[in-house]
Amino acid sequence: MLRRDGIPGGWGKRRGDREYSDLGIVLRSYKLGESDKILRILTREHGKRSAVAKGVRKTTSRFGARLEPMTMARMLLYVGRSMDTVKQVEIETSFHEVREDLDLFLHASAMVELVDGITQEHEPHPELFDLLLGGLELLKGFPRRAPFIVYFFEFKVMAAAGFDLRVDSCANCGGEPGGGDVSFSLHLGGLVCDSCREGRYRETGRLITVRALSAELLSWMSLHGLGEWPEEPPGRATEREVGLLMDRVLEHWMEREFKSRRVMRETPGCRSERAKGG
Ligand SMILES: [Zn+2]
Repeated sequence: MLRRDGIPGGWGKRRGDREYSDLGIVLRSYKLGESDKILRILTREHGKRSAVAKGVRKTTSRFGARLEPMTMARMLLYVGRSMDTVKQVEIETSFHEVREDLDLFLHASAMVELVDGITQEHEPHPELFDLLLGGLELLKGFPRRAPFIVYFFEFKVMAAAGFDLRVDSCANCGGEPGGGDVSFSLHLGGLVCDSCREGRYRETGRLITVRALSAELLSWMSLHGLGEWPEEPPGRATEREVGLLMDRVLEHWMEREFKSRRVMRETPGCRSERAKGG
């Protein structure tokens, strides 16, 4: 059989098309039968995929690891009709330090759920993959900075998904947002200036007051990348205010509350300042 371009087709070529190798982060895993798992994987180049890993729960699994959520591996996958099959796995980072610490696990789960919630299957988005990997590595390396890492990650994920928060100019008129305490419009996704606030333009919707230090941190986040740190670490009140603001922005944006956020709030002794907010 010849393809239109004259290259011989046939079984060999088709099999080549049906396998692919990519880096993947396990977003979720479900038990299947006695020893298998169904995985939801964010691959770097092939988008989010569902795949079955056969025998992965056996102690003698040829994968050598259980492919828990957050595991990052180079994978060889075979494209199936409804679901892919994991053929080979080479673990790059298991992130067991993150998974085995309840507080870090909850923070990481918030990141994983956000990425899972905003991605469509089979739509490649390498930038989101890199952000998630970077966020997990930061949690592992700087566990005490977990709240900061998560809301900075959320800010960057929204930007990568095409939702840039307007934090350097008024989201309604484009003017200066003004000094001192400012107002944030969930509806417009940004700060609004004094005159737009005073004018009570219908466009701004409900407003949230943001203290000057928090507005400065938002502006810093818009100009820096995940993995950079402000010269002065934000104080607890600022951390808490920006964390809660990002929760509300995300909830408004996603129109639903993430399960992990609720668990984080309800877990006693959780290190996160956000856990005590409300
Ligand atoms: Zn304005």
